[in-house]
Amino acid sequence: MKKYSEVTRATLAVILITGGLLNQNPASAQLSRPQAPPLGYAPQLVSEIKQVQQAALTSDYAYRQLAHLTENIGPRLSGSPQAQTAVEYVAAELRKLGLEVKLEKVMVPHWVRGEETGALTNFPGMAPNTTQKIVLTALGGSVATPAEGLTAEVVAVNNFDELQALGRERVAGKIVLFNAKFDQQLADNGFPGQAYGQAVAYRGVGPSAAARLGAVAALNRSAGGADYRLPHTGALRYADDAPKIPAAAVAAEDAELIAHLASEGPVRMHLVLTPQTLADAPSYNVVADLKGSEHPEQIVIVSGHLDSWDLGRGAIDDGAGVVIAMQTAQLLKQLRLRPKRTIRIVAWMNEENGARGGRAYAEDHKADLVNHFAAIESDLGAGHPLGFNAEGKPELLSLLQPLSTILQSQGAGVTRMVEETGTDVAPLGEAGVPTFSPIQDARTYFNYHHTAADTLDKVNPKELQENCALVAALAYTLANMPQTLPR
Ligand SMILES: [Zn+2]
Repeated sequence: MKKYSEVTRATLAVILITGGLLNQNPASAQLSRPQAPPLGYAPQLVSEIKQVQQAALTSDYAYRQLAHLTENIGPRLSGSPQAQTAVEYVAAELRKLGLEVKLEKVMVPHWVRGEETGALTNFPGMAPNTTQKIVLTALGGSVATPAEGLTAEVVAVNNFDELQALGRERVAGKIVLFNAKFDQQLADNGFPGQAYGQAVAYRGVGPSAAARLGAVAALNRSAGGADYRLPHTGALRYADDAPKIPAAAVAAEDAELIAHLASEGPVRMHLVLTPQTLADAPSYNVVADLKGSEHPEQIVIVSGHLDSWDLGRGAIDDGAGVVIAMQTAQLLKQLRLRPKRTIRIVAWMNEENGARGGRAYAEDHKADLVNHFAAIESDLGAGHPLGFNAEGKPELLSLLQPLSTILQSQGAGVTRMVEETGTDVAPLGEAGVPTFSPIQDARTYFNYHHTAADTLDKVNPKELQENCALVAALAYTLANMPQTLPR
């Protein structure tokens, strides 16, 4: 399956180009659509959507929940005790709000990081009896080196073509470094997903490409910002037709160092990685319903993923998405607004290294997907939202035009069709369910994504409120709009 987050983001990124995120202001985006006559949400619905929006913009509920998830519980890698505690915590909080909460079981990969060190032990011009430390981190799912590590010459390539050109005789027995640069300028100019999509292929399939030519280990230059010598982890995908070799991401600065020295002469590196892959572990999607008053069988999902990488504390990826969803339920309770359709809050498990939660949900609810009216997922941090993405029939946007007009008051009036809105809701989208996601300003997202610096302070409380307002207003609109959605 290719439903890993990088695929989602790569796909989104392509659409960012055509949509022109951040290069197009909300007003001009508005002009590009013919002005349809008002679709006539009842004045009461319009007033309720505005109430939800305004209440979100002044609430600190989501931020407090995010603080608990990240600072009290911490990182939440699938199979970890923190992931289990987070499942129980989110379930309890949603029960406290009066929702009907279920834990839906899903078996998840259980990979545990070990020791991880790298050092250059031989290189042109080295001072006698010294080494150069290499900052690196194992990729999720990597196999281990021998406990004492391995030592081999490093060959640096910029891309897959260069690797193939070297051929087996110059790769076998060596460590391959993929030194593909993250295009910071592209990210800075509003195309961060595109920059990520370009760089991340080497993390995902680089290790197997190197192993096919006999490499003993693979390194990739971190897929993300390069300012503070941070290695960015993330999942790799071993191919069935290649030996599994240990793999790590090195900080961009260290990738530069290795490539520089290797251009002058042989470079040898000692690499120690001791992660373990344990048996699959039981875990859960948290599924919580705020029952609809008129069409309780029709479901609008509002979601984020609860698991995170282990290096940081999973604030932008994706504690934010979970608390944005929780806030939707909290606001409707606070305002005593009961939606006509059921609003279902879902905290997904295992988006990062398997996407098992989203797939298990679609499978377990297969017979009922016809009643899934829509699904929203937020999984690109909590930067200022400019509007929302939709996946499905283009008519979705005109049906939601009255909502966009309301959201324009907070600078979130852009709407855009995309091919995929989020990893976990993608299986629902494939089944015909219209799906949505906020369009976040993610220009700095990939500086911290999958690193030790994904911590609470990276979330701006005001921008988190803006995301909550957008998602809650969108969810409430979907749950109450008089029309049905095309699919
Ligand atoms: Zn994520």
